[in-house]
Amino acid sequence: MDNRLKVLFAASECVPFAKSGGLGDVIGSLPKAFPKDEVDARVILPKYESIPWKYVKDFEYVTNFWVKIGYESRYVGIFRYVMDGVTFYFIDNEYYFKRNGLYGFYDDAERYVYFCRAVMEAIPYIDFYPDVIHCNDWQTALIPFFLKEQYAWHYTNTKSVFTIHNIKYQGHYGFDDVKTILNLDYFPAQMEFYDDVNFMKGAMYTADLVTTVSPSYAEEIKDPYYGEGLDGVARDVSWKEIGILNGIDEASYNPQTDEALFIPYAAGDIQKKRENKRKLQEYLGLPQRSEVPMIAFISRLVDQKGIDLIMGVIHDILKMDIQFVVLGTGDSQYENSLRDIANQYPDKMRTIIDFNEPLSRKIYAAADMFLVPSKFEPCGLTQMISMRYGTIPIVRETGGLKDSVQYYNKTTGDGNGFSFQTYNAHDMLFTLQKAVGMYYDEPEQWNHLMHNAFNTHYDWRLAADIYEYWYKKITGRL
Ligand code: ADP
Repeated sequence: MDNRLKVLFAASECVPFAKSGGLGDVIGSLPKAFPKDEVDARVILPKYESIPWKYVKDFEYVTNFWVKIGYESRYVGIFRYVMDGVTFYFIDNEYYFKRNGLYGFYDDAERYVYFCRAVMEAIPYIDFYPDVIHCNDWQTALIPFFLKEQYAWHYTNTKSVFTIHNIKYQGHYGFDDVKTILNLDYFPAQMEFYDDVNFMKGAMYTADLVTTVSPSYAEEIKDPYYGEGLDGVARDVSWKEIGILNGIDEASYNPQTDEALFIPYAAGDIQKKRENKRKLQEYLGLPQRSEVPMIAFISRLVDQKGIDLIMGVIHDILKMDIQFVVLGTGDSQYENSLRDIANQYPDKMRTIIDFNEPLSRKIYAAADMFLVPSKFEPCGLTQMISMRYGTIPIVRETGGLKDSVQYYNKTTGDGNGFSFQTYNAHDMLFTLQKAVGMYYDEPEQWNHLMHNAFNTHYDWRLAADIYEYWYKKITGRL
């Protein structure tokens, strides 16, 4: 008999199939990090149009059925694909998912109500009755609610975990707009939010365990500054809420085997790392100077990421003898201003408006410093990835940035980066100046710091152990 814990991850993103940010990385890495003889972790996600053909061509059709969304019957196709020992299920409905992009459509509420409903109904068809459904962010937040309110008789032994990757995106809608598609004839008290409904709030109340992606963020969201209106709920459910720091896929983000790099290099090989910088300078048309410090910023270009701090002191930053490389997409105001500034400093700055994974890897490898000045950061992966490539993170002390970057102490030689506390452009500038100063004036210290960064590991196995412990706890196996 198979006694393994059965866990079904439900998510709207998963590397290598679909990714817009860190959520995709997490769902691509965590399920395969569990010991296979202890946890049978599978993943269910939408079959988006953008999933690369090299995977889709090998998808195996499982079955189809129909679900009720409001007054309509909607088709649900199920496909299956196994990779790295993990089984992935894809929910197929071309009306909802054959689109250009993952999100940002007028009917996103309906698309993810449909997805959650399809997941609930798919379980008997895939013959995988999970002990735990692990849900992620607002797109899957209805699953814990459905499980408690509408499917308690069907799945009596299934518990739910809800992970908050970002509390800013909640799924907040007028009740009248969604009550029909939710198949509800009463107002769901668990989701009530200023007379509207809030999917994330519903999940926080109905899930058996609520997690956030770093211990610091678990505390921060209880505060109105970070809670985005749900701080009261976070305080209310704090008895079942914990923070577990994400990891990164160290096999994928490995400078020695990363095929996207100009020149692969072993951890600690500073000379070869510099050659990557020169190649990137050539590629971007920047002056080829291997001695100049290169600062990188790779991010979604949205409020959260601290772009207003960068814009506030950009001319001071560019007064230093540095190069600055920006890769990102997002709000057009940020895209335009970052592009404009780069045009003013053709010898010092490049802005690439694109979502480009191979280029991001070239930049992680080439840069000397990596800037993450976020207003808030639930976990943040870019600082972890950059350290893996020996690139020094310069971060604001918030959320997972605070939990993963320690200020370098020149006396003891401990620490892996630089940080500043207050959300203030001049504090950030001052910290950048200190880093650039150390780079130029104290090369031995800088080399030591690089080795510390190379030796920092945020492997998923650590996080997987903690998740497994909690799965066992909520399912009564401990
Ligand atoms: P968030 O989830 O808030 O976007 P994270 O730091 O958790 O932030 O994760 C961001 C992930 O997305 C990282 O893997 C980063 O390399 C990647 N990323 C962000 N912007 C781009 C881009 N323009 N091109 C390629 N990768 C990007």
